[in-house]
Order: sequence, then C-alpha cells, then structure tokens
Amino acid sequence: MKKIFKKPESHPLTWWLDNEENTVYINEYCQKNGYSALKMVLKNLEKKEIIDIVKCSELKGRGGAGFYTGVKWSLMPKKEIGIPRYLICNADEMEPGTFKDRFLLEKIPHQLIEGIIIASFALDISRAYIFLRGEYIDAERILKRSISEAKQFGYLGNNILKSDFSLDIIVHTGAGRYICGEETALINSLEGRRANPRIKPPFPACVGLWGKPTCVNNVETLSNIPSILLHGVDWYKSLSCSKDQGTKLMGFSGQVNYPGLWELPFGISAREILEDYSGGMKKGLLLKAWQPGGASTDFLIGDNIDVKMDFESIFQAGSRFGTGIGMVVDHTVNIVSLVCNLEEFFARESCGFCTPCRDGLPWIVKILRSMVNKSGRQGDIEILEDLCIQLGPGKTVCAHAPGAIEPLQSAIKLFRSEFEDGIDVQNSKNILDVSPNIQ
Ligand code: NAD
Repeated sequence: MKKIFKKPESHPLTWWLDNEENTVYINEYCQKNGYSALKMVLKNLEKKEIIDIVKCSELKGRGGAGFYTGVKWSLMPKKEIGIPRYLICNADEMEPGTFKDRFLLEKIPHQLIEGIIIASFALDISRAYIFLRGEYIDAERILKRSISEAKQFGYLGNNILKSDFSLDIIVHTGAGRYICGEETALINSLEGRRANPRIKPPFPACVGLWGKPTCVNNVETLSNIPSILLHGVDWYKSLSCSKDQGTKLMGFSGQVNYPGLWELPFGISAREILEDYSGGMKKGLLLKAWQPGGASTDFLIGDNIDVKMDFESIFQAGSRFGTGIGMVVDHTVNIVSLVCNLEEFFARESCGFCTPCRDGLPWIVKILRSMVNKSGRQGDIEILEDLCIQLGPGKTVCAHAPGAIEPLQSAIKLFRSEFEDGIDVQNSKNILDVSPNIQ
C-alpha cells in the first residue's frame, strides 16, 4: 500500500485530517488556517475577482456532470435590488457506490461551510441551503453543530467578520429519493412540491428556487473553493497530471482488499488506484469489469484499467467519469444479475413523469429478471437494445433514464453471451416474430 502524506500542497481537500475517525470541528479547523480564505476574500477581493479566480482554476463540478464551476457562477444574472438569489449545496448523494460527499460532510464540515460562504459572497446571496440526503443522519448532526459554531465565531450570520455581508445556511434533509439529486427535482422538493425534474433551459442559474436565480453546486465542488482562493490558481493547476485541474476524491468499492476513497490527482491511472490504494482484487478474484463513477456509468472491461482517471480519458475509453468513485466486478459475478439489480433501483427511483422512463425501466427489469431465471425469450436482447435507444439522451426531461441505461447498454456490448445464456431457446418463439410491431 502506498503511504499517503497529507500535506496542503498535495491534498487541498483532506490534509486537515490527522486520522479518518474524527471530525475536524471549528477549533482544529481554525488552528490549521481554516477560514483564512474567507478573511482574505472579504478583505482583499472584489466579487468579480473571486468568480474570475474560480473560472481560471477550471474547477469542474464534482457531482458527476463536470460543468465548469466558474462558468456556472458567471452565468448568474446581475443582482437586482429586491430580487433574492439562492445557493443550494447539493448533498443528496445517492448514486449507488458513491460516498465521497458523505466523507467530506462528516469529517471536514467547516471546509464546505467556508466554501458556501465564499460562493455566496461572490454571488450576492444571503440565503444558502444544504439539501442533505435523508439517510445521512450523522452528517446532519455534524453540519448543524458546525453551522452553529461558525455563527458563534462570527463567520456566519449577520455582518460576517464585521463586513456588510450576511448569510444564513439552512440544512434541509431529503426523504430518500434518488431523483432529488437532480438539481431541478431538488428545487421542486425544496419548494414543497413533488420532486419531478423541470425542463432545462431555463437553468436554475436564471430561474431556480421560487423562480429566482439559484446556483446549485455539489459538496466536493464547494469544498475546493477555500483552498483555490488561499493558494491560487497556479498552485491548484500544478496538482493535476491531466487536463482536468486539481485533485479529486477517487476510490473503489466491491471485492477489493481496501474499499475506500483517497484524494488523488486527476490523471492517475485506474490501475494505480485499484492496486496501490485499494490493495487489488481480493485473493482468487479476477477483475472482470468496472464502472468508473457510479452505477449510472458504462462498464469498462478489466483490460481498460490502465486508463487515466479524468473526464476525457474515461469518455474515450467508452464510459463517463461521473462521480469518480468506481466499482469493481469480479469474475464470479453474473453480469445480467448485476445489471438487473441496478435497473431495479433505477426503475424504483424514476419520478414517473416521462413515459419512456416510467414504462421503459420496469420493462427492462421484467426482461432481465426472466433472463436471470433462464426464461428469457428469443428477441429479448434486441428489445433491450431498442429500449436503450428509446430511453437514451434527448428522450426524457432529465438524465435519469439515459444514466440508467448506461450499465445495460455497455453490459450487452461487452458480455452479450451472458444475456444469450438467459434465453430459453427451446421453449420460446422469437418475440419479434410473434409481435412484429414491437420493433
Ligand atoms: P447537466 O450536464 O445537465 O448540468 C450540469 C450542471 O451545469 C447543472 O448544474 C446545470 O444547471 C449547469 N448548466 C449546464 N448548462 C448550463 C447553462 N447553459 N447555463 C447555466 N447552467 C448550465 O447534468 P445534470 O443533469 O445536472 O447532472 C447529471 C449528472 O449527475 C450525471 O453526470 C451523473 O453522473 C450525476 N449524478 C450524480 C449523483 C450523485 O449522487 N452524486 C447521482 C445521480 C447522478
């Protein structure tokens, strides 16, 4: 196992931690230079300068889509007197296999709070929400304590550090729906409505919470802000060994020796993470396939494990970087059974608004269940392939269905014979001959 030296120069997000058990509360955070970025910003920088620095850093959103944070901030319309604006920290982390935001929320809450305060100052926002996954009970307690500490120390509330800037942060817990992580469904949920995604555009930057300009950023994204401002753009860019800048929480779960996450530079190879940090596959197990960034990313085969972990390299390899927290599949796993499990989750979590998603995902599950029981019908693979097109990009309001079909379409492409094994050739007629209109 590689030793990880936690130094601010190489680990801007996690160097605060002496060990992985404790939470860094305010005294320790301040002792280690915490809230220095906020002090510096309030004293020395204009709001536009802050946005320009974040833009120059080329920080990409860490929720999964990788949209440039500085660009998102600069797309917020100019402040109009009497029109409120909001910041929402998306902490509704529910991507199966992803647990990076939970780590930051539970271990270094003040880094996130400082990031929210700086972002809110730069964007002329006086009320911020943290939309927290309902099951993150420890994170809720820790965040609430930390917010009240920040208020006591004068970093939050009215006239922060005696400036004319005031900010309130409200923690709102979700009720356990995956779709609430989609930013517009999240906004509907926060407004007390059913969590259906809204059509974009307009983007929340212009028409968001209660119809007002709203910036929605992920936990890890906002946690990067204090160190970028404190140490500068050149320093931040020097941390990466790829086109994507800075570091990223990355890791693997599944049948590896040390499932977990580490703060690593963009551009590190997936093999290094798997072998040097996660300790390789468990004894006797071979790497059959892996997903680079959550359940809604395409499978890659074991041969692709030397790929660099960054948005472009993973895309070129045939998948999506997503949340950067990977999952391994070992050689004993039946891929149809695994995909069936994932699609059951996605079908259950569909909001039901768009027909392809509402009806298509349960249909996929029905076919996959029959294949798991070896009672699939001839033509079922072709139906699954067609459903992957019908549920693909551009067919639904949000990215739920397109994300849901990524593991399915890649599994059929890479492991077709396992789907064929699920078909009862003896006892089934070709469904496409029986019902020709199905195509
Ligand atoms: P998206 O590409 O539509 O948008 C990304 C962000 O950029 C959004 O905040 C959007 O508002 C903003 N944006 C894009 N164009 C804009 C413009 N012209 N003006 C202003 N803002 C603009 O992606 P998405 O639907 O928000 O997210 C999908 C991603 O979410 C997937 O990549 C998936 O990996 C990820 N995901 C993450 C989790 C998790 O738990 N972290 C769960 C499910 C999905």
